[in-house]
Amino acid sequence: MEKNCISCKKKIVNDPGSATFKCATFKCPQCAKYELTRCTNCRSKAAKYACPGCGFTGPN
Ligand SMILES: [Zn+2]
Ligand SMILES: [Zn+2]
Repeated sequence: MEKNCISCKKKIVNDPGSATFKCATFKCPQCAKYELTRCTNCRSKAAKYACPGCGFTGPN
C-alpha cells in the first residue's frame, strides 16, 4: 500500500529489501482520527506536518 509523507508529500514505498523508505505512521495526537505518515527524512529533520482532520500541526 502506498502512502505519502504528510510533510514532504513524497510517495513512500515500503520496500522490504530496502531500509531507505521506512516510514512512521502514527495517529494524530489531537483528534486520533487520522493516521499520519512521515518518512524518515522528515522525521529526522522534525519537519512540520498538519493533520488533515483537525488542523493540528507539530512535530510533536
Ligand atoms: Zn517526508
Ligand atoms: Zn487531527
